[in-house]
Amino acid sequence: MYISRNQRKIVTASIIFCCVIILISCTNFSDFDSLLSIHVIDVGQSESILIIAPNRNTILIDAGDEDSGRKVVRYLKKRKIDDIDVMIVTHPHSDHIGGVEAVVNKYDIDKFFMPDITHDTDTFEGLLQVLDKHDIDVSFGKKNMRMRIDENLYLFLLSPMKDHSDNLNNWSIVTKIQYNQKSFLFTGDAEHELEADLVEMYDANFLRSHVLKIGHHGSNTSTTDRFLDVVRPSVALISIGKENPYGFPHKDVIKRLIDRNIMIYRTDEQSNIVILSDGNEIWSYDTPWFR
Ligand SMILES: [Zn+2]
Repeated sequence: MYISRNQRKIVTASIIFCCVIILISCTNFSDFDSLLSIHVIDVGQSESILIIAPNRNTILIDAGDEDSGRKVVRYLKKRKIDDIDVMIVTHPHSDHIGGVEAVVNKYDIDKFFMPDITHDTDTFEGLLQVLDKHDIDVSFGKKNMRMRIDENLYLFLLSPMKDHSDNLNNWSIVTKIQYNQKSFLFTGDAEHELEADLVEMYDANFLRSHVLKIGHHGSNTSTTDRFLDVVRPSVALISIGKENPYGFPHKDVIKRLIDRNIMIYRTDEQSNIVILSDGNEIWSYDTPWFR
């Protein structure tokens, strides 16, 4: 049978096309592949944030309270996380450290950061024991630390920057992620004193962030007008429990966000929140509570 040159080209092109289709369908692509994803895990009235870089390097900021540890582990497993490259414990309150034991029992941690401050509680003692048991090297997080997580993706630690005496919230390690054009700020339980220090210490262009994890679960001790005017976020993330006894998020915080037209996502209303970015755009498949 004679096959013309043109027919041969068509057959070759068809075979290549079929191979590409088979390859694509065999590869387990998810929505998150080759993207940065930020996951505010719904851990009730506590906090845990998972960050997965496009190269699958992983950062975990806090692990929720003791009751939430297993939930955090389940979430990591669901996201097929093998190990944690950077774990940050923002400060020693139980709603941020209680779940660490469950996480380190299941996952290897490459770098572990916490602030250089102790807390006289069983939960904090338990944290130190479990870190010791697993031979985890602890580094004290502080201002002006920078790590490269992926090509064009950097992690900055902005604080603590001084002795905040007995206000543990203000000892929070504040973290910034810069991925190409987009930036993300995670403030732990930072209150207005630390926010003011950040504004004093850093250039406004550096603090400017497209996504802001609201400090201290939306308490009115945080998220001041001045801080918002410097950071100028378009998206706010709030980690809080349903009908929590503190009345968080405070109505004045919500008003300050709404007045600035900042899109609000909150775990009490929508459970887990996932924000995605390719470094140029930011989006989510979750419906914001306010837009
Ligand atoms: Zn907290």
